Amino acid sequence: MAKIVILGTAGAVFSQKRNNTSFLLQNKKELILIDTPACLLSKLDQIKIDFRNIRHILFTHSHPDHLTGIIYLIHSQYGLKNRIHIYASENTIRLIKKIRKLFSLEDTEIYPELIFHSFKKERPVFYRSKDLLIYFFKTKHSSDSVGFKIIFKNKTIIISGDSPFDQNIIKEAMNSFILIYDCFAPERFFKKYSLLNQKHTSSLNLGKIASLSKTKLLIPIHFSGELKYSFQEIIKEIRENYSGRLIIPEDLMVISL
Ligand SMILES: [Zn+2]
Ligand SMILES: [Zn+2]
Repeated sequence: MAKIVILGTAGAVFSQKRNNTSFLLQNKKELILIDTPACLLSKLDQIKIDFRNIRHILFTHSHPDHLTGIIYLIHSQYGLKNRIHIYASENTIRLIKKIRKLFSLEDTEIYPELIFHSFKKERPVFYRSKDLLIYFFKTKHSSDSVGFKIIFKNKTIIISGDSPFDQNIIKEAMNSFILIYDCFAPERFFKKYSLLNQKHTSSLNLGKIASLSKTKLLIPIHFSGELKYSFQEIIKEIRENYSGRLIIPEDLMVISL
């Protein structure tokens, strides 16, 4: 059975209940991780996935809440001679190489060999297997940020990564089966801290995005842990513009495909 496990649902500031956002895409024995926050090994343990079986990792961008767990993963695979494929922007790859060097984890006689695949504009499809096709698309959150379009059989799943309101993602997500999109906080915080508008999406704007893209199922994610609001407020704002299926995810929630 194919599924997406939502390993975490929080933004950079996490809490007891919600840790940093990442995903595991699982299709029988095929395991694809999307982002590696510091909590990664604990989350994989909780869903009984052996971290030694991870062979493919996709990165949305290089911010610490999405990346620092790669060091734990490399360090944990001591002496196994594993090969791990990394799919990321050039800048993210540069950073991974730097921190691997900083922690002296480069010796492939001891630690896993990392095989780097950098995203190329002219080759948007970067992963292909029997049942899966995965594309990347550039996003506006940071200079190296991307989102993913996952095609499983005839279903399209979009993962925006961290992102502000973005017409291009709406286009990518048109008629999608699932849209998983940044939802940092209610609109009132975006009015108060206007810089947020360049980096993330309010629940009010997310409702507009979901409605414009005609997605069948909206899953908001990457909730701010530092601001005080309720999920009723998030749902109410989304519902001002979107009447389709909506799931507010918890950490470790499973979506069957
Ligand atoms: Zn983030
Ligand atoms: Zn970020």
